[in-house]
Amino acid sequence: MLLLSALLVVGGFWMWDSFTYDGPREAVFPLPQTFANNYENDWGAPRPQGPHEGTDIYAPEGAPIYAVTGGTVTTARGSSETGWNTLGGYTVMIRAAYDAGPVERGDLLYYAHLREPSPLQPGDEVEAGDEIGEVGRTAGQEEGTVQDFPPHLHLGWYEGFGLPGDSRSQAQSGAINPYPLLRWVEGNGGRVVLE
Ligand SMILES: [Zn+2]
Repeated sequence: MLLLSALLVVGGFWMWDSFTYDGPREAVFPLPQTFANNYENDWGAPRPQGPHEGTDIYAPEGAPIYAVTGGTVTTARGSSETGWNTLGGYTVMIRAAYDAGPVERGDLLYYAHLREPSPLQPGDEVEAGDEIGEVGRTAGQEEGTVQDFPPHLHLGWYEGFGLPGDSRSQAQSGAINPYPLLRWVEGNGGRVVLE
């Protein structure tokens, strides 16, 4: 089993190396700057499904969501073709195309509770700051369900190609706390231009 997972990881690296990205290398706050103070470090906060694995940023329904880094849209495990899953509602997942502060190339950023399905498709390439959806309140068994929690963006961050014992993840799922990432972007004025 260990051998099999090692092969899968190596296979992942091979595929990843074949991907080239020529866009600008930047990192941006995922919502308009007006909402830059609307989050706290809520990693591990108790939630019905277990400890919270992300950061919630509060904003009105319909506020634009921006890609934090450039990268490629991927399908989140357990999500339907429209990006729907029970916990996250309409979601988008983007694999970072380059290192950006604490983010490493290959890491996955996950945007959840979108008002509507993202217009993006798996395989699409985005640049940092591209609009990838709108803030909403979606989640639940049935696609399209709207919850009564306040509208917010759930931002998740997952290690891309972690190997056992060589891992930054802070949860079984491979999740990393996005709070320091957001603070880093915000501390640089909400948009960081990298090398
Ligand atoms: Zn959340």
